[in-house]
Amino acid sequence: MAPLLRVNDLRTHYFGFRGTRVVKAVDGISFSVEAGETFGLVGESGCGKTTTCHSIVRLLAPSAQIVGGSIELEGEDLVKKSQAEMRRIRGRRIATILQDPMASLDPLFSVYDQVAEPAYYHQSLRGQKLRQRVKELLAAVRIPSPERRMKDFPHQMSGGMRQRIVGAIAQAGGPRIIIADEPTTNLDVTIQLQYLNLLKDLQRATGVALIFVTHNLGIVAKMCDKVAVMYAGKIVEMQSVRGLFYRPRHPYTKALLDSIPKLGVKEPLYGIPGQPPDLAALPVDCSFHPRCRQAMDRCRIEEPWQHNLNGDGNVRCWLPIDEEAAGRG
Ligand code: SF4
Repeated sequence: MAPLLRVNDLRTHYFGFRGTRVVKAVDGISFSVEAGETFGLVGESGCGKTTTCHSIVRLLAPSAQIVGGSIELEGEDLVKKSQAEMRRIRGRRIATILQDPMASLDPLFSVYDQVAEPAYYHQSLRGQKLRQRVKELLAAVRIPSPERRMKDFPHQMSGGMRQRIVGAIAQAGGPRIIIADEPTTNLDVTIQLQYLNLLKDLQRATGVALIFVTHNLGIVAKMCDKVAVMYAGKIVEMQSVRGLFYRPRHPYTKALLDSIPKLGVKEPLYGIPGQPPDLAALPVDCSFHPRCRQAMDRCRIEEPWQHNLNGDGNVRCWLPIDEEAAGRG
């Protein structure tokens, strides 16, 4: 059976004035998401995670363009859709939860208006049925006294409640897949866990698939079934979440895991040395080689191919960490 979403060799570039500078933010990535699955997209800031999400929903900055590849949602290529067609798809079949709830919510409209809008357009609900649906959606994201709070405006709610309202809006059109781009970054640590649990509960209740974008590997471990690690616009490793944590095969993945502080271990904190490369001047070699602990001559002259990992994902490296060593690490 075809996956719910299949991204194939997607390339999204940003073009500077008169095309003088081309930033290859997403440079040939492929992955698929099954119905009801949680797929994690991880990597440092600027690696192309957010541009990947914006490409999927076709909400790119004017300077960005999808220059190649396909994004198939239930077999239909979204790259070929007009913006009018995408307006019917966004909210109804694919929805987003962004990092900053205040950027997603309109301060001039009440909570009711904002949650009702996608249910009105995509589910054709009106009158009492619409009101009832808004109440149910607010109750599902655990807004206390939903009947009363639906009259409030975003500034009358706490940060955690606003992000839950954004979750209710994402659910309102009955989408098959939700893209959550760093949805807990602006929340207090205590609220983060509640929000993640809420998303999991909503997923169990509705069967929606999640694409979870984060730089936090702890969140990946809690939320995801499958994970792709991005570096400099490419997916360098993709595995089941268990495989990634117990058998990381790419040196960058291993370095990310090594940089997590370990409770009770009094060792100096490890940070990945160096900086990610300039995406406007990517070399033809392995773009991770200046920071890689096991770089060899070939890595400096030739871009690594993608190798399959015994049916459990793939890795893009000339010298993947062997399974035994990865397990011991
Ligand atoms: Fe390191 Fe070479 Fe693998 Fe790149 S290809 S990650 S430099 S070992």
